[in-house]
Amino acid sequence: MRLLLCLLLTGCINTLGPEEWATPIWPPPSAQADYTWVWDHCVSTIRAGPRWPLHKIRWYEIPGDQFTWRENQVYGTFHDGAITLASAWVPDTSVLGRVVRRHELLHAESGDNSHPPWMAACAL
Ligand SMILES: [Zn+2]
Repeated sequence: MRLLLCLLLTGCINTLGPEEWATPIWPPPSAQADYTWVWDHCVSTIRAGPRWPLHKIRWYEIPGDQFTWRENQVYGTFHDGAITLASAWVPDTSVLGRVVRRHELLHAESGDNSHPPWMAACAL
């Protein structure tokens, strides 16, 4: 419904996230552990509390190991409370998947969708 409404309104397309055309999923099994790791090792150094609590984050997937978002090929995104992952990175079976999930949680917990220098210190 939101997608249809936005498509009918001019200038709205830039506010849509990939979650609008992705499939809702349950949080990955490692979500709580990854959320805690990101807080302890990264975001707690810059914020008093996480911007998005884990229980309010919505999770989505798009088939494949990448998808296009704002003319870039990406492994995942965080947009408006939603983490969208390329489906290859949803299971807990790869190191890169863990990095992708933690990277998006970093955006969620910090409330910052840019990539400031402090993020590099977290190796995410
Ligand atoms: Zn990022």
